[in-house]
Amino acid sequence: MIHNETIVAQVTCPGKSSVGILRISGTQSKTVAMELLGRVPLARFATYSKFLDVNSNVLDQGISLWFPAPHSFTGEDVLELQGHGSPLIMDLLIKRILSIKNVRLAKPGEFSERAFLNNKLDLIQAESIDDLINAETESSIYASLHSLQGHFSLFITELMNLIIKFRVYIESNIDFSEEDINLNIEDIVDSKFNKLNNQFLKIKKIVVEGKLLREGKKIVIAGPPNVGKSSLLNILSSSNRAIVTNIPGTTRDLLYEHISINGITCELIDTAGLRDTENLVENIGVIRAWEMIKQSDHILFVIDATIKLSEQKKICDEFIHNLSKINIPITFVLNKSDLIKNKCNFEKIVGLKCISVSAKTGIGIDILRQNIIQIEKCNSRESIFIARRRHIHQIDLAYNEFLVAKKQWKLFKNIECLADSLNIIHRFLGEITGKYTSTDLLNNIFSNFCIGK
Ligand code: GDP
Repeated sequence: MIHNETIVAQVTCPGKSSVGILRISGTQSKTVAMELLGRVPLARFATYSKFLDVNSNVLDQGISLWFPAPHSFTGEDVLELQGHGSPLIMDLLIKRILSIKNVRLAKPGEFSERAFLNNKLDLIQAESIDDLINAETESSIYASLHSLQGHFSLFITELMNLIIKFRVYIESNIDFSEEDINLNIEDIVDSKFNKLNNQFLKIKKIVVEGKLLREGKKIVIAGPPNVGKSSLLNILSSSNRAIVTNIPGTTRDLLYEHISINGITCELIDTAGLRDTENLVENIGVIRAWEMIKQSDHILFVIDATIKLSEQKKICDEFIHNLSKINIPITFVLNKSDLIKNKCNFEKIVGLKCISVSAKTGIGIDILRQNIIQIEKCNSRESIFIARRRHIHQIDLAYNEFLVAKKQWKLFKNIECLADSLNIIHRFLGEITGKYTSTDLLNNIFSNFCIGK
């Protein structure tokens, strides 16, 4: 795809630095090279160059790199200029480049968008560039790199190939009269359904792991009022985000904080104290707290160490009973341990593994952090990819349609209906890699990138 407009942007961060890099992409890149450098540099060699203004005065000097189409990031002619990283020099150079006809400033993500439109990357790979830049942990960097290298796309392509083969088989059978239809069709369709189901389940599994890597696991801090939940959020996130008072019912809505422990990103959520209350607003907070608890990946259930053991046991049992049908790891946190002199063995009496801490003095907080790491440690397997909500949504849409198709086939054995469903599944999956993507979706994805990417 050829764009008439050539685009320019600074690809390094704005601000003072030793080197600032400008990228120019499009058909006018050659003209930019001729005007600024006096010649087109040797392809893919670092060339020491002077960057000239309209009167051939030197604006700056540095390295120029020339990547002729199609062997460039965008697939177009690309010129990169590495000058001194002064905001003023970068500005002067950009102004100079913009004075050349048909050159304009690049929009956010426009270089990646052109790479996608010129088939240099698929959508998953383009998105993984953004994820890589924004990665906050070592494991998410590796996962983004895997996606960028096309490993995730391969899984989707494998699934698409199964669909294509299935579609070809079904479509070719539609044209035959009933007598001519392959007698084995039911067996063949069943076997194809099974293969598809296995591949769908494989992808759904890795995609959920990938989503957790991108967004971090949800750790909910729950417990009765006034036990120190907000204090725990503050000490774990090293902030004063939550208001701490000795008035029960102070936290009425969910409070979110992102923390990184040993490279693992987690989303900590403070919730309203769990109790029966007449207060309407507080009650809404309690309902929200329960909803969040049930969707979380890990619960820190906080208990007040100063109350009677029998009372502690009752509170824990009640909480476990309420979550009996849900399998979420719970860490029992016995807070305010600084206030008790005779530390009796809670674990032995209550029968639950718990960690004694003081959110006030910091006692036991490191042990709690270690415990969180142990539970949250995503096994950084090579096959983990960064997955976005968009990918998960498309896979869910495709899988639901697949289940409907399977059910309908079982009931009616209608080959036309099956062909329609397979077409829909194919389209849903195609939107992940960008084969069926609408312009709106593209704009949405690329506009979240930073300028110069
Ligand atoms: P929440 O209602 O469960 O969120 O509890 P807060 O974090 O608001 O704390 C309630 C009260 O307990 C406040 O007065 C805190 O200062 C106090 N508090 C919280 N953690 C500790 C602790 O570890 N030791 C002591 N002595 N007091 C604490």
